[in-house]
Amino acid sequence: MSSDEEDYGEESEYETDEIEMDDDSDKFLTPSDLTAEMNLAITDAQSILQVNAGVCRLLLQKFKWNKNSLLDKFYENPDTNEFLTKSNIIPCKLEPIGSQSDECEICCMESELVGLQCNHLACRECWTHYLSERVKADQSEIECMTTDCKLLIPDEQIKKFICDENLKNSFDRVTINNYVEANPYLTWCPADYCSKAVKVVNTGTRLITCPCGTIFCFTCGNDGHDPVSCRHLKLWQKKCEEVKSKATTGDGYSSDNDTFKWILSNTKDCPQCLTAIEKNGGCNRILCRNKKCMFEFCWLCMKSWALHGYSPCNTFNEDAEKNRVDSRAELLRLQFYLNRFMEHDRSLQLEKKLVRTVETQMEKIQDLTKSWTETQFLRKAVDVLSECRRTLKFTYAFAYYLERNNHALLFETNQKDLEMAVEQLSGFLEKDLENDDVATLKQKVIHRVLFESDGYYKLFYFRFKIRVATWNTVARFSWIIVLKETSRTSIIIHVL
Ligand SMILES: [Zn+2]
Ligand SMILES: [Zn+2]
Ligand SMILES: [Zn+2]
Ligand SMILES: [Zn+2]
Ligand SMILES: [Zn+2]
Ligand SMILES: [Zn+2]
Repeated sequence: MSSDEEDYGEESEYETDEIEMDDDSDKFLTPSDLTAEMNLAITDAQSILQVNAGVCRLLLQKFKWNKNSLLDKFYENPDTNEFLTKSNIIPCKLEPIGSQSDECEICCMESELVGLQCNHLACRECWTHYLSERVKADQSEIECMTTDCKLLIPDEQIKKFICDENLKNSFDRVTINNYVEANPYLTWCPADYCSKAVKVVNTGTRLITCPCGTIFCFTCGNDGHDPVSCRHLKLWQKKCEEVKSKATTGDGYSSDNDTFKWILSNTKDCPQCLTAIEKNGGCNRILCRNKKCMFEFCWLCMKSWALHGYSPCNTFNEDAEKNRVDSRAELLRLQFYLNRFMEHDRSLQLEKKLVRTVETQMEKIQDLTKSWTETQFLRKAVDVLSECRRTLKFTYAFAYYLERNNHALLFETNQKDLEMAVEQLSGFLEKDLENDDVATLKQKVIHRVLFESDGYYKLFYFRFKIRVATWNTVARFSWIIVLKETSRTSIIIHVL
């Protein structure tokens, strides 16, 4: 097999892994696409319900745009009026809509009073003011102005009361927004410069890649955060906030605050000569910049690299803390995982600089080989690194909530493999890139760092092993760790 064919094989391997992340059937919709989809759903339901469009929208919104569950409820009631009354579309007692001159109960001015079918009346100015406030508060399902009256105001009526064109447009925007928010198959791209929503076929938690380049979690809108679940991510973020505010306000034990401050700061002292060192790259293998010292150590645990090497430092040693009081041990445990979480996050940010370094190197290679394709392995290496670093970061939030048992040990083994591979790749790209000729460089990146001898993507494989899918059982969350071995697939279920 020539080297070209070999490259082609690797290429397709990479592509397969990518497809697994993004569903082809995802559709990305602009606000006008969304309006069209929404109106289509309304017309469709209208043909059965025989009510006007605004009422139909209110009903569909109430049933989260699930036409079938709306129709089920509709057919349960033989009497359409009864159904509409229950849905707060028409009042219990139908009265002719009055229009009379009297004192408005809200502003106490003598004026022509108008109102809804519930016969709650007010002057036009008061209605306009009330509805504008509701629309500005992002509401599209607006109840009657009278307290205790739950009657919903149909869209047509709302637009009649708010005469201002800008406000009418705002109302349409709010309507579309609430359509997306209520519909379980839709979610907005979280980027503030992007106005697209994604429409999916299956609502499970997974990563979405918007055409604008943003990658986000379909369920919670955060950046990709596997293997940690959306719920535990929220808990973890709360913990991080607590720690940050404690470290800045100085509540609680002062020695703990010092530890938290230490975790949050960008500089650490060299364990040997105490020179302050600021980390300027993603790799956690650190060389003291004091020329007389040159001590090499692990940034995560501060131990000598000579003893440490690319060996595990991902496991919290609970035994060492056993004799201490529980709350103290718990705090140390949090510090352990938080420190690693923060450091990998920092590395992730610092490794963004690699894109530039690598581009320079890619230009050099292109000049030498006259081939653009030849340079792509470096680009891929950086992409793989950043994706795997992100996963690695979240494994520490995951591990914090993981119960200690055999599954946890297995998880830690996978985590250790991923961590070692990530640090090796990072160290290589940051430090050794310029030392080799193209052929050696490619050889090293592809065959030593990215692939194992049998050709699978080493880092993606480690990451895949760690990927954890979550699903909600009746009262508790469960985790599945999917382990894809070379020849078999096994599933381990771990309930927290
Ligand atoms: Zn009034
Ligand atoms: Zn009313
Ligand atoms: Zn987007
Ligand atoms: Zn999420
Ligand atoms: Zn030193
Ligand atoms: Zn270490």
